Amino acid sequence: MNKTAKCAWLLCGVLVFWCPRGLVLQAGAFDFSTHRRITETALAGLGFDADSIALVNQGNIAVDAFDDATVPEAHFDSETFSKGSERLRDKLGGVLDSLDENDRDFALDTLGRGLHTVQDFFSHSNFVENNSVDTPIDLLNLQDPPADLVCDRATFKGGLTSGYYPDNKRPSEIKCVHAELNKDNDLTGERYSLAVAKATVETRHYVESLLKAIGTRPGWDAPRRAEMLKLLLPPGAPN
Ligand SMILES: [Zn+2]
Repeated sequence: MNKTAKCAWLLCGVLVFWCPRGLVLQAGAFDFSTHRRITETALAGLGFDADSIALVNQGNIAVDAFDDATVPEAHFDSETFSKGSERLRDKLGGVLDSLDENDRDFALDTLGRGLHTVQDFFSHSNFVENNSVDTPIDLLNLQDPPADLVCDRATFKGGLTSGYYPDNKRPSEIKCVHAELNKDNDLTGERYSLAVAKATVETRHYVESLLKAIGTRPGWDAPRRAEMLKLLLPPGAPN
């Protein structure tokens, strides 16, 4: 990341924390503290130091605060499951490309943007209403639901769906909107707790997928893979 970009990010970071949440969170999502708590819990022990985690959190928060706020697949809104998976694969590739260019800061920022989408899936879909925390899910290869899939507004039981956003954009009466389905805060009680728990598990899985991808990246020989891993996770970094 060049100097100008870094200055812009610093300003953005200040604005994010100063702006009233209602103005910043255009897309609706886990609040900032929830995203941060999920990430910090999931990354513990993997070798990320505090500065690295701060950059990951900055990228995560930026998804709700700036241009991506109105991109449905950045939040798995509006049943954009296949596009959301594509975004997650793209972000993993983006981290590898940034490491290849020796841009560690942008790699961590990109990782945070991917993690935001991972975490929103569990707040914005009905996965936790239909599965346990132990149920596996391949977030990198989701399919869109059929157009005639009904979202049960009373129980949210049934096939995988997510809420439409903005809330006045319900495409049909059989679909749910974000305001009905989301578990963005603890006002939704047990459903929020389940979403946080599963988001934490899958955040860790996503980072493990990244570490695996570094170890298998075509075009990188063994020394280069070791170098890239060391760039992302400097040995001896306190955690
Ligand atoms: Zn979001």
